[in-house]
Amino acid sequence: MKKVYLDHNATTPVHPEVVKAMLPYFGERFGNPSSVHSFGQEAKRALDEARGVVAAAVGARPDEVVFTGGGTEADNMAVTGVASALCNKGLHIITSQIEHHAVLSTCRHLAGMGYEVTEVPCDANGVVAPQAVRDAVRKDTVLITIMHANNETGSIQPVEEIGRLALERGIVFHTDAVQTLGKLPLDVNAMGVNLMSLSSHKIYGPKGVGALIVRRGTPLVPVIFGGHHERKKRAGTENVSGIVGFAKAVELATRDLEATEAHVLGLRRKLEEGVLSTVPHVRLNGHPTKRLSSTASICFEFIEGESLVLSLDMEGIAVSSGSACTSGSSEPSHVLLAMGVPPATAQGSVRFSLGTENTESGVDYVLEVLPRIVERLRAMSPLYRQSGTCV
Ligand SMILES: *Cc1c(COP(=O)(O)O)cnc(C)c1O
Repeated sequence: MKKVYLDHNATTPVHPEVVKAMLPYFGERFGNPSSVHSFGQEAKRALDEARGVVAAAVGARPDEVVFTGGGTEADNMAVTGVASALCNKGLHIITSQIEHHAVLSTCRHLAGMGYEVTEVPCDANGVVAPQAVRDAVRKDTVLITIMHANNETGSIQPVEEIGRLALERGIVFHTDAVQTLGKLPLDVNAMGVNLMSLSSHKIYGPKGVGALIVRRGTPLVPVIFGGHHERKKRAGTENVSGIVGFAKAVELATRDLEATEAHVLGLRRKLEEGVLSTVPHVRLNGHPTKRLSSTASICFEFIEGESLVLSLDMEGIAVSSGSACTSGSSEPSHVLLAMGVPPATAQGSVRFSLGTENTESGVDYVLEVLPRIVERLRAMSPLYRQSGTCV
């Protein structure tokens, strides 16, 4: 059976060059970077080199890179770390309704511990207005955390403007850039961020590794205590092989950024235009232009996104309903609801996210299979029959 993977916002296959770069660190270069002997120093050198690569990719200094166990940990560290460090200054945090659960659940956890959290709404395109953030600022606001691009819709957020207003008001600004690394050029200076979360497995690197960029002078209390690793910001023996793989993935993604974007955008346009012109009663979610080239979130009226995902899977096509983190629960996506999509329509959402290994023929295959499946599912849907649109 033909296999077409269209779920790159959930995870990506590890690039063979990344695997090759990692392998020696499972074998002869197994040292602990904290050891003073030659085995340790060899691992330490690899770590330093990786730190330089990741820092350069986002315009930061090497000593501003804190390696973590992925994007979720980086988000937790940023939100909890800043809130704890500044608890004597204020207890108010601003975030948005469309954040990844790694940020949203952390903020809600803090709200249960006495912090106050404002979840700023977004517009119908899934974009958070800087003015809405400005209006939410209070005297006791200590942190603003707004993502760079949304993982479900791909809508790109105006982080530069939010960064400027955070600086004006002297508020620490964090952005989750997990979905934009390797897709948009990133520069912590231009974006005006104090902290930035990154993850390896969304850019053809290994899972369970990422980084939090912490600009010099940013107040941050660790969330993991122990030894003196990562400048005392994140204790625990470093995942050396994972970090080496992450840095290789960053290097390749940065080098190939423009070519990848052009490739993926061409395929996405073909897919979107194909679906919109052959399947009735669909709606495209997210911003029409300010959107990740890889991402198309589409609502199919009268059917469950989950059923469509399962039916497509039986034909070898991998997509997701909502985000990877909410699939399996029957709740409609919090992102689409925040955009004002009615709950019943939001239930019918499917996210297609493309990547480097996708091809024209893969998209052709989806366009051949999908309309047939949608028609079949709708024929079984009482909602569709009642709507009178099925004649
Ligand atoms: C995937 C993702 C995360 C979580 O990263 P992990 O490395 O899987 O923990 C956080 N934020 C966004 C926007 C994501 O897409």
